[in-house]
Amino acid sequence: MTTCRLDFEDLLSDRSLAIDVSGIRRVFELGAKLDNPINLSIGQPDFPVPQAIKDATIDAIRADRNGYTLTQGVPELRSAIVRRIRDDVGWDVPSDDLGLIVTSGTSGGLLLAMMATLNPGDEVIVPDPYFVVYPALAELTGGRAVYCDTYPDFRLTAERVEPLITERTKLLLLNSPSNPSGVVLRTSELRDIVELCESRGVLIVSDEIYDEFTYDDGREDGRCPSPARLTDRLLLVRGFGKTYGCTGWRMGYAAGPKPVLDQMAKLQQYTFVCAPSMAQFGLAVAFDVDMGPLVRSYQAKRDRVLAALAPVTNVTHPAGAFYAFVEVPAAVAGSATAFVERATERNVLVIPGNVFSRRDTHFRLSYAAPDETLDKGLAILAEMLSGGDREQL
Ligand code: PMP
Repeated sequence: MTTCRLDFEDLLSDRSLAIDVSGIRRVFELGAKLDNPINLSIGQPDFPVPQAIKDATIDAIRADRNGYTLTQGVPELRSAIVRRIRDDVGWDVPSDDLGLIVTSGTSGGLLLAMMATLNPGDEVIVPDPYFVVYPALAELTGGRAVYCDTYPDFRLTAERVEPLITERTKLLLLNSPSNPSGVVLRTSELRDIVELCESRGVLIVSDEIYDEFTYDDGREDGRCPSPARLTDRLLLVRGFGKTYGCTGWRMGYAAGPKPVLDQMAKLQQYTFVCAPSMAQFGLAVAFDVDMGPLVRSYQAKRDRVLAALAPVTNVTHPAGAFYAFVEVPAAVAGSATAFVERATERNVLVIPGNVFSRRDTHFRLSYAAPDETLDKGLAILAEMLSGGDREQL
C-alpha cells in the first residue's frame, strides 16, 4: 500500500480561507437547536411562485427544453427583458454600446461583473452595512472591499463615497432598496453618485434585486428610483428570485456597457455555462404577472414592524426590500450578537448586524413571514428592546 500524502488543509487556497462564514453559521447553529422558531431571519419571500410562471416552467420541462441554452439566455426571455429595460429605464439593449446576459441568479451577475473588471488589489467601494456577499466576491476575485460607513441613516451618498475613491477604485456597489436596511435612495442622491463616479472613472454596479419591493414612500413617479434612468454607463443587475418567490431557481440578468458585458458572457461560458433552462423559459412570462397586491401586502408588514419597534428603538425607515435594520440600545445589550443570542433563547431568530457590517450595534429583521409569526416575534423583540427582559439576564 502506498502512503497517502494528501493534506486537505494544506491544499486549501488563500482565497477560500480569506472568507469568513462564521457569522451566518452562528445564526444557523443557534436556530438548529430550536423546535419551532419564530423565524425572522430569512431573506426570501413567503409567497409561492405565481401559477402562470409555474405552469410555463413545467411546460418547458415537458416540452423537453432541458438542454444547454445560449450563454446569453434564451430568445424568449431576452426579448421580455429587452422590453422591460426599454420601458423601465429607457435603454436600447442590445445595441452597439450595450449588452445583456441572463445570469445564474443576481449573485451570478455580481460575480461575473467582478471577474470581468478586477485585477489583484483593485478596489470596490461597498456600503456598510452591506449584502454579505459583496466583500466576499471582491475578495474571491482578487479585489479589495473598501467600506463606506453609512450609519446612522444608511444612505450611500456622493459625499460619503468621494473620500474613498483612489487610483485603484474600479467599482462602486449600489444597492437600493438595500439589504439589510431597506433604505431606498432618491433620484437626487443617485444623480450625485452617478456624476461623481463618471467623473472619477468608477463603474457603478447597481444591484436592483429589490426594485419591485419599493413602497409608496420610496417610489418616485410610481417606481423605484434607478440610476439607470440617469445614464447607461453603468452595470444594471436585477433578479427574479425575490420578486416572484423563486430564489431557488437562480435567475437574474445584467445589462450595461458592451465591453464589460462581452467579457461577462465569455466568463459565463467557462463557469455557469447558462442559467437554468426551464426557469428561463418559465420566467419569460414573469413581467406580465402583476405583483402589485403582494408588494402592497409587504408594505403592510413593514408598517407592522415600524408600529411595534419604532416606539422602543431607532429603526431607519425602510421604504423597500423586506428588512428592517434595528438598533439595539446600549442599555439593553452590550452588542447586537449578545441581544440576538437572548432573542434566540426566546425562540426568535434574527441576524446580528456584524454579519452585514463592521459594527455590531443592530440586527436585521426580515418581515417576509406570515403576519401571525411576525406579530409574535415583534411582541417579544419590542419587550426585549424596551429593556423588559433585563431581569432575566
Ligand atoms: N443582492 C442582494 C442585495 C440580495 O439581498 C441578494 C439575496 N439575498 C442577492 C443579491 C442575491 O440574489 P440571487 O438569489 O438572485 O443570487
